[in-house]
Amino acid sequence: MTNLNETHDPALTSWVESANAPETDFPIQNLPYGVYRKAGSGGPGRVGVAIGDRILDVTAAAAEMSGAAKDAAGLCNGETLNELMAAGNGAWSALRAGLSRLLREGGPADAPRDALRGALTAQADAEMLVPANIGDFSDFWASLVHATNAGKINRPDNPLLPNYKHLPIAYHARSSSFGVSGTAVRRPEGQVKPPGADSPVFRPCARLDYEMELGLYVGPGNDIGSPIALDDAEKHLFGVCVLNDWSARDIQAWEYVPLGPFQGKNFANTISPWVVTMEALAPFRTPAYERAAGDPALMPYLASDANAAAGGIDVRLEVLMSSAKMRAAGTPPALIGASRFKDMYWTAAQLVAQHTASGCNLRPGDLLGSGTVSDEESFGSLLETSWAGSRTFTLPGGEERTFLEDGDEVIMRGYCEADGARRIGLGECRAEVLPS
Ligand code: MN
Repeated sequence: MTNLNETHDPALTSWVESANAPETDFPIQNLPYGVYRKAGSGGPGRVGVAIGDRILDVTAAAAEMSGAAKDAAGLCNGETLNELMAAGNGAWSALRAGLSRLLREGGPADAPRDALRGALTAQADAEMLVPANIGDFSDFWASLVHATNAGKINRPDNPLLPNYKHLPIAYHARSSSFGVSGTAVRRPEGQVKPPGADSPVFRPCARLDYEMELGLYVGPGNDIGSPIALDDAEKHLFGVCVLNDWSARDIQAWEYVPLGPFQGKNFANTISPWVVTMEALAPFRTPAYERAAGDPALMPYLASDANAAAGGIDVRLEVLMSSAKMRAAGTPPALIGASRFKDMYWTAAQLVAQHTASGCNLRPGDLLGSGTVSDEESFGSLLETSWAGSRTFTLPGGEERTFLEDGDEVIMRGYCEADGARRIGLGECRAEVLPS
């Protein structure tokens, strides 16, 4: 886990005024990376860092840096973050410190602000791109609450499967269908077996759902055959995003036995464009989830004192919805669910240790999904909110929902707050459902 350093000082302010607004997701203590281009330009993507409502071009900023920070900035002249992700903690820390010093108020007296001002783009004028070449995507199921709820819905007499508390469960998913926030998602068609029907039919998904998750980007990979030890796991994590793992529940329900999700999951994933680094999350670390007294003892490869003491991360996630009717009426999106990543049964480090325990190799830019983040009272999926379609909920304006309708927009947000720290945000992951 990264220690606190000068870049986390809550007293730091930036000469980019909008970064000092109390409600901004991107104060100088955050400095998340993304890939952007001028909206409508169709040009190549550039690596930028978010500061307030602006983006600083990291390659342009490199000209004003020296030493290790300049070297690390030099890894950002491509169209993805993969080279920076591969470089590891030393490079990441040097670049973060270099950017913090260039952007802070009261920084070096000769801070070349005129040159840097010319390297700023308004986020409103930018088009964000998928920030990494995501080679592989694996999706976990790390929330005990979500796993128990999904189990109760499918197996009321036996909600939690016997393996759950022994190892983090996941499936190997798909990276080709990732879209960045703002990319619309088309309702999939597929084979479903309606309740009571004798045989399946092919039709548009009638139970379209979201899953609110935290995405974890892999930094340096590991060699095949060389598992990553739990206490080294976070050296292999670059940062996080908000992830919507779209799910077609009716397609999933018919196809998933015995090999797991396929068509029900592979049609789209939406990610927030900014990657908040593990270093930026340092003020928001918490103990790992406290396992109940009767839970099985962890095997040694999934247990360590460091993980128990500070393996958690207090990222708060929220999901909001707006229907086409609400948007036409000017009604703001309605909050549907809110939950916290720190309450997950398995930590980020345990997901990495489990993924590589077999010797499986991770590569820079791979993405690990946490699984739906649900609290006891507030859920990260409509499967739970509607209890598999058996309960409706009402949107402002009176429309009722169980699952998503065409024209619905799903908006997920993440942020972190802690005593003695500046609030930081993960930004937004937003997408509208289009008809099939
Ligand atoms: Mn998922």
